[in-house]
Amino acid sequence: MLVIQMEKQCSSLDVARVCDLLERRGRETKVVGGRKAPRIVTAGNGEEQEILAGLPGVEGLAVTKHPFPLASRETSPHEGVVDIAPGLAIGGGNMVVMAGPCAVESRSQILETARGVKAAGAKVLRGGAFKPRTNPYSFQGLGNEGIALMVEAREATGLPIVTEIMSTEDLEWLEPHVDIFQIGSRNMMNFSLLKAVGRADKPVLLKRGLMATVDEWLQAAEYILAGGNSRVILCERGIRSFDKSTRNTLDLSVVPLVKSLSHLPVIVDPSHGTGRRELIRPMSLAALAAGADGLIVEVHRDPETALSDGFQTLDIAAFDDLMQSISSLTQMLSTDEERRKCALKIAM
Ligand code: PEP
Ligand code: MN
Repeated sequence: MLVIQMEKQCSSLDVARVCDLLERRGRETKVVGGRKAPRIVTAGNGEEQEILAGLPGVEGLAVTKHPFPLASRETSPHEGVVDIAPGLAIGGGNMVVMAGPCAVESRSQILETARGVKAAGAKVLRGGAFKPRTNPYSFQGLGNEGIALMVEAREATGLPIVTEIMSTEDLEWLEPHVDIFQIGSRNMMNFSLLKAVGRADKPVLLKRGLMATVDEWLQAAEYILAGGNSRVILCERGIRSFDKSTRNTLDLSVVPLVKSLSHLPVIVDPSHGTGRRELIRPMSLAALAAGADGLIVEVHRDPETALSDGFQTLDIAAFDDLMQSISSLTQMLSTDEERRKCALKIAM
């Protein structure tokens, strides 16, 4: 695949000239980004590189063998930083912990939990209003009312909010209310939903599919990037395996692996990844030691009464305790030398 970076001041004629040249040679082209410094993506291994490099408006070219050219480190070598909200970014050394209940259940539940996770040091509040439940008779979430309660919790705490979007129909009205769109594991291959959030002007937390390979996951991210939305955060949340002693098999090896393949920030969800409350702490620390840019943890003021996923949810005191350990660990990991050691180069 070839990515052609156009100059900031390039004209639409410059872009059309590049596309024309490629299309006359039978290549599909896709222009990504706005008028300023767009990128043109095309299949092929770069035979036209020399001619293209000489065309007006072309700043540079990058070739990659991977089917996710915009997500690839080969075309964007620097570790990416995703802006979440004013003063809050993730990636490139900025570690962010997101926490909150699996689902918004009531006003007092979300407000109390939000205040608790904020005091413990979380930087983003999670909470589902549209829940993708396996059983149609299980609690499906509060829907629009849940979003209104998340917005109220943001107002009360100042924490940006992340919540799952399940339908393209919800994109337009939901966008002004959320800070991060979550694409759940079950929807990682819902290509119309990926295209929809690709058009949005909000960051997207893209969970790894229940059975997705790394290649499939990064191609799902590519859908969002190709739509023009460059703010993608990847989330490892465990994959299905034969072993039922944990809900999923949390694949921490993908943290350094994906970070070597892609510039996108990677976070880990130890709640869904294990399905067991007592495993959240060791897996959180292991994820950060492996180089994760953050975590998303289920926390509830009273996990025993939670309407979903209570068994993989921490109470506020346990979350506070976890945050203290995280703080000691990240101080140790934050030296430049440690970061360099963690940034493995993995040949694929
Ligand atoms: C969630 O985070 O609420 C959720 C449903 O997660 P996943 O899509 O990873 O199962
Ligand atoms: Mn959950």
